[in-house]
Amino acid sequence: MKPTDIDEADYFHKVVDCQWACPAHTPVPEYIRLIAAQRYTDAYLVNWRSNVFPGILGRTCDRPCEPACRRGRVEESNGEHPEPVAICRLKRVAADLKSDPRAGMPKPAARRNGKRVACIGAGPASLTVARDLAPLGYEVVVFDQDPKAGGFMRTQVPRFRLPESVIDEEVGYVLDCGVRFEGNRRIDSLKALLAEGWDAVFVGTGAPRGRDLDVPGRQEAAANIHIGIDWLSSVSFGHVTAIGKRVIVLGGGNTAMDCCRSARRLGGTDVKVIVRSGFAEMKASPWEKEDAQHEGIPILDFRVPKSVEHDNGRITGMWFEKVSAQYDADGRRKLVPTGEPDEFHPCDDVLVAIGQENAFPWIERDIGLNFNRWGLPDGAWPCCGDQHRSVCAG
Ligand code: SF4
Repeated sequence: MKPTDIDEADYFHKVVDCQWACPAHTPVPEYIRLIAAQRYTDAYLVNWRSNVFPGILGRTCDRPCEPACRRGRVEESNGEHPEPVAICRLKRVAADLKSDPRAGMPKPAARRNGKRVACIGAGPASLTVARDLAPLGYEVVVFDQDPKAGGFMRTQVPRFRLPESVIDEEVGYVLDCGVRFEGNRRIDSLKALLAEGWDAVFVGTGAPRGRDLDVPGRQEAAANIHIGIDWLSSVSFGHVTAIGKRVIVLGGGNTAMDCCRSARRLGGTDVKVIVRSGFAEMKASPWEKEDAQHEGIPILDFRVPKSVEHDNGRITGMWFEKVSAQYDADGRRKLVPTGEPDEFHPCDDVLVAIGQENAFPWIERDIGLNFNRWGLPDGAWPCCGDQHRSVCAG
């Protein structure tokens, strides 16, 4: 028998399954114990130290901690649908019931250490870096093209899921740590920024480009086909306030769920989600799918977009090919046509939520960074794309 290897701190972290599964390694049992003792502000601060945005995450996190929760296994013998502890929602409980937590947060550094750090993009990644560095004496400036900080949390999570007051509050706590925010400043050239003599530059620009649809008729009917994440931010900024009655949402991730539920609220009476893969393999979290279905939005799976029909540029509907999943000897999945007739779905608008990509056209290729075949700088940590709402606090 080998002795237990405790040289790596991971040994201890892995002991608590939910804490290990959380990307920010939030000490889940600790903060739940504090909630049980009605010490909501302390519970909030335990979260805040790990994941920076407890009130936001308590409403939007993708909750990888919950499938890891041991209660899900303990309860297995007790019922048909074993449930984990509601770790995510408990975070919201702490955030909503706390009193002013600022006494437990770091103050702006009394003395600067002479180092200047630029953070590009004012989403959760940059704000986390800023929160950690500013109290240590670094002069941190966060740049964003939008007037307010928050990034995708502010521009793309629908308001009915995340009130703006929660974003203002939690972004405010970060900026109060002595961070400078420069809104309305889009960085178009990394070379030009580097010429300003920063000691370090952090790129936290996420996955801002939504994938487009490439089928016949798409360009002709462009006026009624919208890229999901862009449409969500137009809704968030109030530029879009209505949509047609019949809406097709393409895609099976959480962005698609936000799109369909927003479309419902903006006047869509016949909203449906159509996805290539099977229902069970959709990327959206099970509770997001449930919420959409509870709002009367059907999810039609195993349908591949084939073409867009239009009448002089005005969209009339879309054709879909029906497919089924087949697996080869290595377990690789292929979608193959079932041979059934194609299906036509009439619509007034289409929202395309079939994935997101990083985009770095503003980083010059001759500044000494190597880019891989996906257009990412070597060593970059790609954003989780579709899961933009499960805030990457790392
Ligand atoms: S809800 Fe999200 S942030 Fe909170 S413990 Fe779970 S994974 Fe971590």
